[in-house]
This record gives sequence, C-alpha cells and structure tokens, in this order.
Amino acid sequence: MTETTRETRQRFKSRTKLVHAGRTPSEQFGYVNTPIYRGSTVLYPTFEDLSARRGRFSYGTQGTPTTQSLETAWSEIAGAAGTVLVPTGLAAITLALLTAVKAGDHILVTDSVYRPSRNFCDTILQRMGVETTYYDPLIGAGLEALVRPNTSVVFLETPGSQSFEIQDVAAIEAVAAAHDLCTIIDNTWATPLFFPPHERGMDLAVEAGTKYLSGHSDLLLGLVSANQRWYPRLRATWDAFSMCPGPEDVFLALRGLRTLELRLREAERQGLAMARWLAQRPEVVQVLHPALPDCPGHDLWKRDFLGSSGLFSVLLKPASREALAAMLDGLELFGMGYSWGGFESLVIPFDCRTYRTATTWNPPGPALRFSIGLEDIEDLQADLAAGFERFNTHNTKVSSP
Ligand SMILES: *Cc1c(COP(=O)(O)O)cnc(C)c1O
Repeated sequence: MTETTRETRQRFKSRTKLVHAGRTPSEQFGYVNTPIYRGSTVLYPTFEDLSARRGRFSYGTQGTPTTQSLETAWSEIAGAAGTVLVPTGLAAITLALLTAVKAGDHILVTDSVYRPSRNFCDTILQRMGVETTYYDPLIGAGLEALVRPNTSVVFLETPGSQSFEIQDVAAIEAVAAAHDLCTIIDNTWATPLFFPPHERGMDLAVEAGTKYLSGHSDLLLGLVSANQRWYPRLRATWDAFSMCPGPEDVFLALRGLRTLELRLREAERQGLAMARWLAQRPEVVQVLHPALPDCPGHDLWKRDFLGSSGLFSVLLKPASREALAAMLDGLELFGMGYSWGGFESLVIPFDCRTYRTATTWNPPGPALRFSIGLEDIEDLQADLAAGFERFNTHNTKVSSP
C-alpha cells in the first residue's frame, strides 16, 4: 500500500480526505491511528541540534505527532494554509481576535454572535483599547457605512447563535476586501464540510471542536484555521499565549474526525425531519431552520452552504412560564443543557432581548433551540408531542414571554 499525501489526496472527495488526512501509519509502526503522545521534554541528539532547536518537534507546548495529525487534517478539510488547536471553542475565538487587533483599533462584530464572544469584546478588548461596534447580521453591503479609518476586523457568525440569521458573506467580504479588514468567522454550525470558510474569502475561521468534531459531548476543543496571509501571525500569537489543549482531547477529536461527515449528514437528515414536523404543530409560530424554503435567509443559505446541521430554533405562541416548564421538565429524551452537536438530543429556551444591541428581538412567545441527536426520530417526536400536551394543559393564563 502506498500512503497518500496532501498533494495526492487533492483529487479525493471530503469523505475520503476525512478518513486519510493526518495519518501516517508508517511512522507509527504500521498502526492505523496516531496514538496519544504525552510529553513536555523532547530530547536532542547533539549540542548543535539542541542549540538550533533542530528537529521535527522541539517542546511539548509547540506540538506532538498527535496535535500535528489533527492540525494538518483540519487544514486539509478547511482548505487552510494552517491550523492551531486551543483548549475550547471560546479560546479559539479570543485567539483569532487577538491575532488581528491592536490597541486603538475598531472592530465590527455581528449582533448575532455567540454571547461569550460578545463578553470578550466588551470587557477584555475594551480594556485593551479596542472598540467594538455590533452590526445587524442582515446588513450585507450596508456594512460599508460602519467602517472607520481604524477598523481592522469584521467578525461573522452565520447562521447567528440561537436566532439563525444567515449573513450575506460575499457582500461583507467585498467590504472587508475594499478596506483591507481581517475577516474572522465562527463556523461552528456548518463546519468546513458545509461551509468552506477560506474558499468563501474568510481570513481566519473558528470551530468549536467541542460540538460536531467531538460528536460525543465528552471533550472541549477549539480550532483556528487561517489562509496563507494570516497563518504566520496566527501561529506566532498562539505560540506567545501557549494555549495548547490536552493530548487526550486531541486524540478524541481525531477519532471524531473520521466519522464527522457521516454524523453531520445524519444530523442534517434528522434535523430537517424534526424541523418539518415542528412546522406543522399548532403551538409553533415559526421554525428558524435555514434549509427550510420558507425560513428567513434560505436563499443565501442555498447560495453559500453545502448542507445544514442538526441545530435550529423555533418560536412558540404566547405562553406562561408554567406551561413552558411543564413541557420541558417532563421530557424524557431531550436533555436540557448548554453545548450541542453530540449524539444526544438537547433543548434550551433562549431570549436574545437581554443582550442584543444593534437589532431588536421580539418573538411572539417563548423561543426554543433544539440540537437533534441520533435517537429514533419517531421516539423524539412522541416525546415532544407529549411535551406539547403538557404545554397546552398548563397554558391557561397567557402572559408575555
Ligand atoms: C459552543 C460554541 C462556542 C464555544 O465552544 P466551547 O468549546 O464551549 O468554548 C463558540 N461558538 C459557537 C457558535 C458555539 O456554539
């Protein structure tokens, strides 16, 4: 058998790349997988080698065969010049921002951004003298009007966290290119399989590996990939912070990588089936799932994305807190908790009104976000149908959400 290389793998489709990328069995005594390398010290054979730090690896913080396997595989899947690994998805966001900003800068961040990203901008970046303007996720080419002489970054997240607005990435990218702004995208929902970030013009792309790459709710990990222009600076910033993840988590992410497309396609199928079912329920006013033709942003989703994952939201009719609690507390299959992208189904209520600043969020009633897992879809629907029964029984005195 001849081992494939990044060059020879270029002719393969993503499923084949996912199986082969980042593995070199001949370097691991023929074993199929790169094992967990644990280590701080790397020994050098000679004084000259030590002085020049000559060798493929130099010290534990700078990488091991395990971390290098995932970095090279991810770069290949994402179409990136290079990738760095960090302990969490949020760490990937903060590292990407710190790669691109300096004191005195102004940055543009979508109002639909993952809430902890917003916290970082409003506290740490503000303290460092970096000013943030939040923009309407649907602004498109209108972003031009918000650019200042000291603007350095445009941060995108599409679809938006919880509310699922789809951004016009091409229009925003054109504004960024005209003003030489660094574009950063939180690409966690789609992964590079459903939205190839660098092909779409993004400089830096963030993935919370905690979600679909893990797929099992048993690890935390972040990845930042970069195009040719930004990779050296990303690597240098990562190196300065020494933000390296633990080897077990990297190994588990490599394991998840091999089945990522299978699981994502199944999440898409299950998510769509559930979204369509929910759209028929009388308790549901609107389903926010960009792959459904009558959902907001569907045309842009169709233009830019290669698929949809299993995370979406619904807006319910006006209901009391008691009705919502009765529905959620009695669910047997849907867990309530943060994070998503695992094998198990989850639901959380959410309210964007408490933190958005550039847009208004005014739903008719409570809003729920679903992560659809790998359970039998009919079992999941029966669990929700029983939940809606409880919801209706308790929804006698209706108040605002
Ligand atoms: C969960 C999430 C993150 C953060 O990932 P953690 O590993 O939990 O820090 C970032 N962005 C998005 C869109 C997420 O959903």
